[in-house]
Amino acid sequence: MTQVFNFSAGPAMLPVEVLRRAEQELCNWHGLGTSVMEISHRSKEFIQVAEESERDLRDLLKIPDNYKVLFCHGGARAQFAAVPQNLLGAKTTADYIDGGYWAHSAINEAEKYCTPHVINTSTTRDGRRAVIPMSEWALHDDAAYVHYCPNETIDGVAIHEMPDFGDKVVVADYSSSILSRPIDVSRFGVIYAGAQKNIGPAGLTLVIVRDDLLGKAHKALPSILDYTVLAENESMFNTPPTFAWYLSGMVFKWLKEQGGLLEMEKRNKAKAELLYGVIDQSDFYRNEVAEANRSWMNIPFQLADAALDKVFLDESVKAGLHALKGHRVVGGMRASIYNAMPVEGVKALTDFMADFERRHG
Ligand code: PMP
Repeated sequence: MTQVFNFSAGPAMLPVEVLRRAEQELCNWHGLGTSVMEISHRSKEFIQVAEESERDLRDLLKIPDNYKVLFCHGGARAQFAAVPQNLLGAKTTADYIDGGYWAHSAINEAEKYCTPHVINTSTTRDGRRAVIPMSEWALHDDAAYVHYCPNETIDGVAIHEMPDFGDKVVVADYSSSILSRPIDVSRFGVIYAGAQKNIGPAGLTLVIVRDDLLGKAHKALPSILDYTVLAENESMFNTPPTFAWYLSGMVFKWLKEQGGLLEMEKRNKAKAELLYGVIDQSDFYRNEVAEANRSWMNIPFQLADAALDKVFLDESVKAGLHALKGHRVVGGMRASIYNAMPVEGVKALTDFMADFERRHG
């Protein structure tokens, strides 16, 4: 089987150079005669992987020194619970921006620990789904923090603005857009992201937390979710997901070799413009998100005639374009085009779409 273009939302495509290197060194990593999976997380060899990956991530995102980087388990959903239990302190409410499926899921989990102040930012612009600008978000004085999701993986809705909320603690679920472009980490209290989209394999979750927010965890919080415990133990309070961590470290190096996040921003913007361009030029395809809030990472689109969905999916797989089926709550198609998706993949998709329209339109 030759390489296909994989448009899965996550677990998602990884850079093929990284996979090839992992393949080469799988059974004999660094001359140890064993794989990286089989050595102690406390061995000097693995500690070196851990330290280097953190350094590379800090370089890529320009993470200031007063932030801890935690390599965790549990996926982003564990963070839906960890965030309130780490940050509420004596407070009983937090602002939650309800902007899509994942932000809403975070609210459902937070309700176990506090009374979220829910702000629905969904609106319509030119008949399309849009987000109310940050300057109009009605934040609550008593809130311990404001939580939002900058990129809604399922809805294809993005909030491209950088938050500027003074001394409010801003928490962002960056699961599906971290490392896709530069961000100003200093605007955030906590950034978290499951690895399986734009970082590496499933099993690893990144948390970047400002150090003045440590030490406030609820006493019933399991230690494994406690940022202070994880920071004090350098993410080795228990056995971390070592293989996912190692592979993510290689992705960070790959990103640096590619030219870092400014280069990624350029490529991701170009890829997204190419695909939206084809969708917008035709009456056969449509995307229902207002231009300013369109995701660069996850692009849902519908066919004018839903009866053709199955034909589209069958034919796209034959053309080497995989996993284009939309999420069940949205339907239609969705192309996830994270960092590892080359522009050639998006070009192959747009060529296929144009040809499909000619034959079925
Ligand atoms: N947040 C966002 C934005 C996501 O895309 C996802 C996964 N699709 C999640 C949270 C849940 O992540 P996990 O499966 O790692 O818990």
